[in-house]
Formats: sequence, structure tokens, C-alpha cells
Amino acid sequence: MIDRSAFRTLSYGLYIITSVTADGKKVGCVANTFQQVASEPPMTSVSLNKENATTQAILETGAYAVNVLGQTAMMDLIGLFGFKSSKEVDKFKDTQHTINTANLPHLEQDCVAHFVVEVRDRVDVGTHIIFVGPVIESNVVSHDEPMTYTYYHEVLRGKTPPKAASYVGEETTTPNSQEGTETAKTADEAAEKAAPKIGWRCKLCGYIEMVDELPDDYTCPICGMGKEMFERVEL
Ligand code: FE
Repeated sequence: MIDRSAFRTLSYGLYIITSVTADGKKVGCVANTFQQVASEPPMTSVSLNKENATTQAILETGAYAVNVLGQTAMMDLIGLFGFKSSKEVDKFKDTQHTINTANLPHLEQDCVAHFVVEVRDRVDVGTHIIFVGPVIESNVVSHDEPMTYTYYHEVLRGKTPPKAASYVGEETTTPNSQEGTETAKTADEAAEKAAPKIGWRCKLCGYIEMVDELPDDYTCPICGMGKEMFERVEL
């Protein structure tokens, strides 16, 4: 028996993996699977979906950079790198970044550390490829708290993209109901609190727009999906 919910007990960080294609285009995606696997030399691995443009770029150039996200990272940055494709948008156009000594893009915003990894081995695991290799460069960027996957889910209310290695199916998110614990001071306030607030939640990225109705030409500010991908929620 495989209990899929057991996988939700695993702990991860959140990273933006960047690389460049053979013709020099900068690409990047979000991953939660970067990890150290040996210490001397410092070996690491990351598992990326074969369909990602970043995966193809790493296959072409044999190296990638890791940007360890801090808790200051917001859904717009994670949405841009996690839910949009480098094949369709230039993710670096409005993202602060530099080109490091390995000629790979390093994000300058919302990161706590940088790594550069040289790929030595690849393991084909079906939908994903695991890239294994030594760290050839690393540095601490800030002493902010690193972003954990739990923080991303519970505080930012983020969802797991279907192409992520840790995707285990449709997630149900519990709306934040802390307001319900407050004591209403007046009958009006009590009535207001009793009435549910209406919002629309993107079924792809989890973004919630607090309006009664979405306009027909509405697009998700995080992942770019249209109105048809939104479901009505009461908070
Ligand atoms: Fe979305």
C-alpha cells in the first residue's frame, strides 16, 4: 500500500534553479529537490521535470546555479519561475540578477545563498532527471530565514505545480479562518463576521482574488491562467 499523504510529511526548501541554453538564453524554474548528498567533495543533486526549459538547458550546458529563496520571496517571484515557462516568457526581464563567474544567472533578490553545480551524472527517473554533481562555488547572500516548502504552503498559500517532483495530486487548502476567533464587539460586526467573504481561487497556483465576480478577461497575476481556471471560495 502507498499512502500518498505520507509524502506530505517530507521536508524541503525552495529554490530557483537557473541555467543558460546553448545559444545563451537565460532560463530558470522553481524546485524543492536540491540537496547535499555528500560532503567531501561537496556533492549535490536536484530533480527536474524533463519538460522544463531549464532541464534542457542544463543538459546542453552541463551546469546550473541554485538560488536559495528566503522567506521574503513573494508569490509573484515564485509564480513567475514556478508556474510560467521559460519557453514563453523572459523570466529575467524584471528580476534583479547578475551573471556569475560560471556565466550563469544569480538572482539578487529574495535569496539567502547561491550555489553553482557542475553536472557529473544524470539519472533518468521517468518524468524527471536527477542531476548529480559537485558544488564549484557557493556563498551566503543574506541571513534572512530560508524559505521552507511548509512556509510556502501554509503562509503564502502556494500550491505544488503538476510538474514538480513532489506533486502528489490535487491539494485541498483550508482558507485562513483566524478572523473567526476574534470576538465581535457589536451586532453589526458580528453580522459582518458571520457573512462569508467571497473570493476566487486559481486552481493552478492557489492565488486568491477577493472580489464577488471576476471580469471575463481576467488573468491570474501569478500564473497567467484565465478566468475559467478559478473556483469560487468562501473565506
Ligand atoms: Fe494562478
